[in-house]
Amino acid sequence: MDKYTKIYLKPGKEDSLRRFHPWIFSGAIKQSGEQPHDGETVEVYTANDEYIATGHYQIGSIAVRVLSFSQRTIDDAFWRERLSIALDVRRRIGVAGNPRNNTYRLVHGEGDNLPGLIIDIYDKTAVMQAHSPGMHFAKDAIATALVEVMDGAVQNVYYKSETTLPYKADIGHENGFIVGGSTDNVAMENGLSFHVDWLKGQKTGFFVDQRENRALLEKYSNGRTVLNMFCYTGGFSFYALRGGARLVHSVDSSSKAVELTEANVELNFPGDTRHKAFAEDAFKFLDNMGKDYDLIILDPPAFAKHRDALRNALQGYKRLNAKALAKIKPGGLLFTFSCSQVVTKENFRNAVFSASAISGRNVRILHQLTQPADHPVNIYHPEGEYLKGLVLYVE
Ligand code: SAH
Repeated sequence: MDKYTKIYLKPGKEDSLRRFHPWIFSGAIKQSGEQPHDGETVEVYTANDEYIATGHYQIGSIAVRVLSFSQRTIDDAFWRERLSIALDVRRRIGVAGNPRNNTYRLVHGEGDNLPGLIIDIYDKTAVMQAHSPGMHFAKDAIATALVEVMDGAVQNVYYKSETTLPYKADIGHENGFIVGGSTDNVAMENGLSFHVDWLKGQKTGFFVDQRENRALLEKYSNGRTVLNMFCYTGGFSFYALRGGARLVHSVDSSSKAVELTEANVELNFPGDTRHKAFAEDAFKFLDNMGKDYDLIILDPPAFAKHRDALRNALQGYKRLNAKALAKIKPGGLLFTFSCSQVVTKENFRNAVFSASAISGRNVRILHQLTQPADHPVNIYHPEGEYLKGLVLYVE
């Protein structure tokens, strides 16, 4: 077994680890002689010199992200084992090995016992993101294990961590292919095709986490006039078109996003005149529009990235939802989301409650939505639950 640097906890600081929480905060660690390097694999011991976990060390508030609660070497076999388990889960839930769907999240960080690592699959290309220096240094080993585990299904691995690694980590890195280099970028979700811009797009290029919520929207789209606000690549729009919507308007402040949406609609429904896209600010669009829509989607970017932004974020959700609730047609449906991790389900529901009260309309909650099964939440790490949505019926 490799000799890893040992770090020791302060007395009594092992409780959360005994409950398998995968993070160790810097305040729990006894400062001793040997200071590990950023990203190094370390073994963690209690104050009584009892082994408790192995993980990636990081300079910052989360000092260790736990990879294993039993003593083992973090080697190629480790990565293969964890990735095989993750793939097995995706096969069992039917998102992998499905002829109508080749887009899914293979690794969802803590949810797959691989804290700091995200891997999304788009047909034959995997997009990999490291959120910790430890995962960054392991990227080549992980990519090799990934190609092996996927057994021919993945031929390209694109590494995209420029914006996700902590800026303090002084590690030179660039986005780029670790394996392969295909420019073929069309993938499929539930039988619908779309271009993935993993080079410049947000996140890994597509919002894989809305797959099931889009499918639900499709069921409600028949005959409706749909407004897809914050459309990005247009996911909700092409599901609405397939569901039989009378018209679909997609809005995003980014003209690049509007182009992507138009290209994706064209890919699935060439020449379909039911769709129009607008590069405009959401709040302005909602202020200026008429009472034309009976299905509105609000899927904004995270309004709060940190806890100190929570109050303003909740105000933002309230204002945004109030604007949509004021204008949606009677009998309309509002699909409204928050992807801010620091905003709890209760926080979000309260914001939408306040927005409803401002509108004065009768509002029923029809569905409470969350992230799909390929974005699992580790039961010992409830912080992994981030996507919240409500489907409202507005009288
Ligand atoms: N619903 C999308 C994901 C939305 S991501 C999907 O299913 O894929 C959030 C989007 O909001 C981004 O594309 C961003 O460009 C856009 N955006 C951010 N601020 C905005 C604003 N004030 N008005 C309109 N769009 C905005």
